[in-house]
Amino acid sequence: MSRYLDLRKDIDNLKIEEAAKILKSGGLVVFPTETVYGIGANGLNAEAVEKIYIAKGRKQDNPLILHIADKEMLEKIVENIMPIEEKLMEAFWPGPFTIILKRKTCVPDIVTGGLDTVGVRMPSGEIAQKLIKEVASPIAAPSANISGKPSGTTVEDIFEELKDKVDCIIDGGKTQVGLESTVVRVIDGIPNILRPGKITPEQIKEIAGNVKIDKHILEQTKIEKDEKVLSPGMKYRHYAPDSKCVLVYSRNEKDMIKKIKDIAKTQCRVTIISCRENAEYYKEVTNSIINIGSKDDLNEISKNIFSALREVDKIMPNLVIIEGVKQEGIGLAIMNRLIRACGNNYIEI
Ligand code: AMP
Ligand code: MG
Repeated sequence: MSRYLDLRKDIDNLKIEEAAKILKSGGLVVFPTETVYGIGANGLNAEAVEKIYIAKGRKQDNPLILHIADKEMLEKIVENIMPIEEKLMEAFWPGPFTIILKRKTCVPDIVTGGLDTVGVRMPSGEIAQKLIKEVASPIAAPSANISGKPSGTTVEDIFEELKDKVDCIIDGGKTQVGLESTVVRVIDGIPNILRPGKITPEQIKEIAGNVKIDKHILEQTKIEKDEKVLSPGMKYRHYAPDSKCVLVYSRNEKDMIKKIKDIAKTQCRVTIISCRENAEYYKEVTNSIINIGSKDDLNEISKNIFSALREVDKIMPNLVIIEGVKQEGIGLAIMNRLIRACGNNYIEI
């Protein structure tokens, strides 16, 4: 059973020091960032980092992101930063933005899955910032969940899953963004989005003048077993509840609602994940409806997605039908997570 530190009401420096001590001595600490909770270890201590893979059941070729508190830490771990990369960091740090850079040799292989690059992020969450500063070393931290499961956005959602696998859990309440960071790698001077997030393609284009979206993000393309991908995480099943899920979207809302009702009628024990405004339309086909927020507020929806997917595991329906959203702005990141949660079982009409 791990140590539980409650920092929801105020950020007590003594508790931050306690967690930092655990990290410095090679332990694992679950902590909140503004995106999702992370399972942290001292990022320059290979033995400590290895424990993260074991705790999550994560494949070792799926590299971790190093979280830093300031530019000094960045210089310790990467080299050959290009002006455009500098510009992007300047624009989006601290915040939900990860950039893939050439690593220095002090970064252990276990962090990068043997790649010569490393993903780096400067989080804006106050607890994360203070914790990294106190440790005075980059913290390797993937999302706090068993691999394949939805990322943790509240401690309630992940406590049972992780309490015996880590040394300490810091509770900072519900995370602000709710989706993991945007991951970008600059190739031939153009930022390529390897994983969409709160920082949108439009925002990146505004800074860099150009942006590319990796084809694996939305196309339901199956990644062939030996296919080389820019971001190894793309290969793995993610965010999935135990029940079978289908994602449905149409630009025409009436068509989407009709399709969802038609599918719901073919099954018993169906759960529908819908926006608040549409919930009443589904009452005639099921009494199990999870509301993920207003259709006019994609930030609210992104905050609630992972908790909704986890709630499904408590209900254990025969089928989960999820309403899609427009793939614009943060909608791109929402749909990327939902398509994966459904194992590519996506109907667009
Ligand atoms: P998570 O730790 O769950 O937030 O996932 C981190 C994501 O960043 C995964 O999709 C990784 O594959 C990706 N990533 C981390 N480091 C690198 C890297 N050096 N090159 C490409 N992708 C990376
Ligand atoms: Mg993850």
